[in-house]
Amino acid sequence: MNQDINLMDKIVSLAKRRGFIYPGSELYGGLAGTWDYGPAGTELKRNIKNEWWKDMVQLRDDIVGVDAAIMMNPRVWEASGHVEAFTDPLVECKICHQRMRQDKEDEIAEHEKSHKGQKVEWTEPKKFNLLVKAYLGVVEGTQSQIYLRGEITQGVHVNFRNVVDSTRVKIPFGIAQVGKAFRNEITPGNFTFRSREFEQMEVQYYVKPDEKESMEEYEAWKKERMEWYIKLGIKPEHLKFEDHAPGKRAHYAKAATDILYSGFPWGWDEIMGIHHRGDWDLRRHQEYSGQDLSYTDPVTGEKYIPWDIETSAGVDRAALMFLLEAYTEEDGRVFMKFHPKLAPYKAAVFPLLANKPELVDLARKIYIDLKKDFMVAWDDRGNIGKRYASQDEIGTPFCITVDFQSLEDDMVTVRDRDTAKQERVKISGLKDFLKDKLDI
Ligand SMILES: [Zn+2]
Repeated sequence: MNQDINLMDKIVSLAKRRGFIYPGSELYGGLAGTWDYGPAGTELKRNIKNEWWKDMVQLRDDIVGVDAAIMMNPRVWEASGHVEAFTDPLVECKICHQRMRQDKEDEIAEHEKSHKGQKVEWTEPKKFNLLVKAYLGVVEGTQSQIYLRGEITQGVHVNFRNVVDSTRVKIPFGIAQVGKAFRNEITPGNFTFRSREFEQMEVQYYVKPDEKESMEEYEAWKKERMEWYIKLGIKPEHLKFEDHAPGKRAHYAKAATDILYSGFPWGWDEIMGIHHRGDWDLRRHQEYSGQDLSYTDPVTGEKYIPWDIETSAGVDRAALMFLLEAYTEEDGRVFMKFHPKLAPYKAAVFPLLANKPELVDLARKIYIDLKKDFMVAWDDRGNIGKRYASQDEIGTPFCITVDFQSLEDDMVTVRDRDTAKQERVKISGLKDFLKDKLDI
């Protein structure tokens, strides 16, 4: 356990040092539960979202995307049940007034210990709404209160009718969305794992209201989402499903499971949910909006409200998982063994010496040419050893060095992140070399 806590310290420190993740608003002392992504982290996150979108939308012919507004009519959140139910029962420590979630027994026990033998008493549990409030309108007193969306899901459901009417989709089909959501988390923590502002990637997959068919779709989605993480480098033994027991899941849910990752320093925790939500959302929006949200089968003429199989993942949690999984210490080296598709930069280019114009010129030429096809980093600081160490910690799969011999034989030294082995490669064959090795 100590070693694991150590790992988190190492990741947090590396994330800051190499430009993955910084504390939000750090210049002003921070803002609890918010994080800013630096240059490397932004690329990592973008790669995760691009891979997800490619798999979910580009490569399928039954899923389309939307990008809904973060600010929505407040009635949406009444219909979705969030205004009423989006609350955690909290208890407050009578000594220091810290509020904690009543269901987090471990954290409560931990907190009691922090008072070193004092008898800790707690208040009765109270409910606090987790939706973040905002106010629209410029004149004080006439503003209307809205909520920043607590999940991206509802932006999809409220556009179900629009998508059916404006595209060629037919049941079964899905609507994908990636975007930010906001929650007044009472206890944000564990680095980026539980934040007040976070990004989600989801598909709502609409199917016929049929017990057997919908359960088959649900099982197929479970399998497919699990394989996606494995394909991008998570070891299969680090992942598992945890089905929600009938008592634990929402009353309308026909089935629900989470995908858990084992590599968090605090143990197994959730990175994705797959939920069979029945017709709950569309039926509620039909009721609250007074609009018909049923679907008419173009062949049979059958009319029904579709059922929804939802898959919902956190982008930030995925990024944290990929950081933890990639962290490798080997033979005195630290390197981030990202899958090439996720690595922020695919290659880095160095001139052996920064003060030799002929080396710098050739290296710049190679760098600018490679940039047309890949994210490529440039480094001419310090010595080669330091540059390797820095690219290793960013997770750059290949480092390309232009040396004096390059001027004679049109070849460069390419060094592999994972093996630290070096080989000479023809400059004219560099792009093919990278495409082949990176498999992208
Ligand atoms: Zn206390």
